[in-house]
Amino acid sequence: MRESLIQVAYLVASALFIIAIKLLNSPRTARLGNGLGALGMVLGAVATLFHQAIGRYEWIVLGVAAGGALGTWMALRVQMTAMPQMVALLNGFGGGASALVGLGEALQKLPHGDPPPAWLLTVGLSILIGTATLSGSLIAAGKLHEVLTGRPIVLPGHHYQTAFWLIVNVGLMLWAIIAPTPLPLWLLTASSLLLGVWMVLPVGGADMPVIVAFLNSLSGLAAAATGFVLQNYLLIIAGTLVGASGFILTTIMSKAMNRSLWSVLFEAVGGQVSAASAEGRTVRQTSAEDLALMLSYAQSVVIVPGYGMAVSQAQHAVKKLLDALQKKGVDVRFAIHPVAGRMPGHMNVLLAEADVPYDLMWEMERINPDFPQVDVALVIGANDVVNPAAKTDRSSPLYGMPILEVEKARTVVVLKRSMNPGFAGVENELFYKPNTYMLFGDAKKSLEAITQALTES
Ligand code: NDP
Repeated sequence: MRESLIQVAYLVASALFIIAIKLLNSPRTARLGNGLGALGMVLGAVATLFHQAIGRYEWIVLGVAAGGALGTWMALRVQMTAMPQMVALLNGFGGGASALVGLGEALQKLPHGDPPPAWLLTVGLSILIGTATLSGSLIAAGKLHEVLTGRPIVLPGHHYQTAFWLIVNVGLMLWAIIAPTPLPLWLLTASSLLLGVWMVLPVGGADMPVIVAFLNSLSGLAAAATGFVLQNYLLIIAGTLVGASGFILTTIMSKAMNRSLWSVLFEAVGGQVSAASAEGRTVRQTSAEDLALMLSYAQSVVIVPGYGMAVSQAQHAVKKLLDALQKKGVDVRFAIHPVAGRMPGHMNVLLAEADVPYDLMWEMERINPDFPQVDVALVIGANDVVNPAAKTDRSSPLYGMPILEVEKARTVVVLKRSMNPGFAGVENELFYKPNTYMLFGDAKKSLEAITQALTES
């Protein structure tokens, strides 16, 4: 009876996960989807606590208290701009937890007889994928937090080493299946840690969104493998959902970057950084007042938000500028690049939070042909996603990535604090074009000054 009730709870939780993913499809229903997904999680976790194999609760209570406290502390403390690192860390913790459960289960069962090879294979996959996800995600989080360089780190013979560790891991898995003892499983854990590090180190610059989505997918696959180890259907379903949706996201991100997953993982596309330098060249600057005047005479304005808008938390100031311009009869749209910011959908989320209507947010493919008819392209803290080097400079880490073609607008104005490069670490020729003006300063402060000048004029 108890077992049947647990299975029913798992079934309801699985249904909640599937409905949640469906609702996450649209920004309007995403909040409800998130809530239902969380409810499914709680239901699954509580139902598991009634499992008859659980004899003592001390360690579980300790784990829930420690994990709950750490998670709450991290969630309360995290800055909105550090969310991408947090997501990368959570992917990694998910993979690490799956690997630990798989390893723990195997170490417990091995002394009590010969487990079937198929089961040992799922243990091996759980350890391999979960541990590589953990170490890879830690490196990705380090790069996103800029404690490690965001550029590709390519050591001598790097890709041979990655291939070597992959072969070693497969060998250790076979060893564990043929001669099931703890030793190959411990060795597999250690070598999978190295594989994750080796896999993510050479990915950098503009390719980071692809690897973060890929690690997300791997964390789901690790959970699904652990589900097979435990014969837990909820874990298999939830893991498969995360794995599949993460893989779809990886495909979307690769397409947005015009790269294959293979080239991101094995070709260190951003290996060489462009040698172009700002020395001796000047840029044109403008002031908030001049820009307000320029905007009030414009018919069509396209706002291009980027990571700097998130850093400056300028989304509400952007909305105020939108209102002021619309009041003056200016046609304003937003151009959204798929990898702008540091998370998929980063710009959409921030603009939606400030009540910018969805129908004003245009995707890259849709808005690019319109730029030649645009009077002012207002670039707010975006850099890599508007860098023309992506089209022209073969040595640039951005080469091949489709960009928002703002340089084709009649006038381009870039709001940023300095001449510093963006995430990929390369210079931006756009800033030196004859139709480009720079307005230096924090984006929020600049926007407030522009809106004030606009309303006073
Ligand atoms: P970039 O990182 O290229 O540029 C952001 C710019 O914002 C910087 O040049 C910076 O210049 C400026 N900035 C920072 N703070 C402020 C501030 N307070 N006020 C005004 N400007 C500010 O951003 P993009 O959005 O153009 O490109 C995203 C990059 O991140 C791409 O390379 C992408 O591949 C990568 N990435 C994206 C992920 C995703 O999923 N979307 C995930 C991981 C990486 P300054 O310091 O001079 O102000």
